[in-house]
Amino acid sequence: MNPVKLHPKKSLGQNFLTHKGTLHKILNAADLQPTDHVIEIGPGKGVLTAALLEHTKQVETIELDDRLIPLLTEKFANTDLKIHHQDALTFDPPNTPYKLVANIPYYITSPLINHFLREQPPEKRPQSLTLLVQKEVAQKICSKPGKLSVLALQVHFFGTPKLIAKVPPSHFSPAPKVDSAILQINLHRKSLIKNSDLTKLFELIHRGFAHKRKKLIRNLNATSEQFAKLNLSENTRAEELTIQDWLNLLD
Ligand code: SAM
Repeated sequence: MNPVKLHPKKSLGQNFLTHKGTLHKILNAADLQPTDHVIEIGPGKGVLTAALLEHTKQVETIELDDRLIPLLTEKFANTDLKIHHQDALTFDPPNTPYKLVANIPYYITSPLINHFLREQPPEKRPQSLTLLVQKEVAQKICSKPGKLSVLALQVHFFGTPKLIAKVPPSHFSPAPKVDSAILQINLHRKSLIKNSDLTKLFELIHRGFAHKRKKLIRNLNATSEQFAKLNLSENTRAEELTIQDWLNLLD
């Protein structure tokens, strides 16, 4: 199969990385050691995969597109690469340390982040995530308290996000319609919340953000006394709450 002739599928978010400088920035951010175990989502034609294999032998990659599997199998025949032909959203992560590094399909950014963070027990979450995502999404995730969306909260409870570099459409083929960015998320060493409280916490967050025009206090069915006790004003909006405020509200 000739990789150059493969017609990119828009529906699978196929924008292949072509810029070496951006590839190096991703690898620098991921800070890989020869003993690291790396999981990649969406290898495409294997540009990032090949670069990852130069840093560590232990690489697993998850690709959904049938057409790419024979190509990847042939290209990496002489390596230890493990190829999973499946939807990354159904992948069962290992319970040993690993780093997630990927140029992900943008249409599943939020479900992917949830799948590897919120939906896993602590031992199955990655040590870090180094991802190419849409620039606006990276900026939203890296917002400070006062502007924390549900997606940003879904990251901040588990780790510290950092926008490493902006990436223009010209660094891909075909060029996406949006700007991109390298997003790095280093997981907190110690969980901020017990796993058994996660469902309750995110139910609370979803209720808090549910009716944009209603005040948070109404969305949560809380009383003035409860808010005063937590040092929150009755006019506080959901996005203004810090991580600690949400944890206090849960108690
Ligand atoms: N890593 C390659 C690169 O940088 O050139 C390709 C990146 S491209 C943005 C996204 C890749 O994810 C494509 O190869 C696409 O087929 C794959 N993909 C799309 N949806 C997927 C899913 N649900 N699970 C696994 N892979 C998926």
